Amino acid sequence: MDKFDLMISEEEIKAKVKEVADKISRDYDGESIVVISVLTGAFIFTADLVRELTIPVDKIDTVQISSYEGTKSTGNFIFKKDITTDISGKNVLIVEDIVDTGRTLKKLREMLQMREPKSIKICTAFDKPSRRVNDLVPDYNCFTIPDEFVVGYGLDYDGKYRQFKDIMIVRTDNE
Ligand code: 5GP
Repeated sequence: MDKFDLMISEEEIKAKVKEVADKISRDYDGESIVVISVLTGAFIFTADLVRELTIPVDKIDTVQISSYEGTKSTGNFIFKKDITTDISGKNVLIVEDIVDTGRTLKKLREMLQMREPKSIKICTAFDKPSRRVNDLVPDYNCFTIPDEFVVGYGLDYDGKYRQFKDIMIVRTDNE
């Protein structure tokens, strides 16, 4: 049986998401945004975040990325599911569950940048900066966390535990 240690409670997450949403609403005052949620992990955070925003949200779209580890560890990325929204001239807010090495978001941002949006920013629920392999810094981050594998609030272990309301450190059977 996997075991769990509480890292961040549902109440703490709720309060912080509201705080970050308020900041986003202030920063984009007078503008509207297109939200791009990175599946699957960001679906719960996206649902909570957008409901706290007070600025107009023109569209909410989703993207799913697949990474293929080639002979080099940098990997290659393809869209398993692309957005269907035309983002040219739009303010794009990418919503992600967690930034780890930063590879996924760096590549995604580059790929979306080619479609000439007015702006692109990144909002993540959790950030593990100690694991970063590049210069990616999210524009908005709810929680900076240590290098632990966490589940809940959309994050899975082998497809499981996404529905947990709190963020938990998982101690798997293999440890
Ligand atoms: P990156 O390209 O930044 O290394 O990858 C980020 C992705 O790795 C996240 O979207 C998530 O799917 C996965 N990931 C990184 N750290 C964790 C973690 O602690 N728990 C879970 N469940 N997934 C993680």
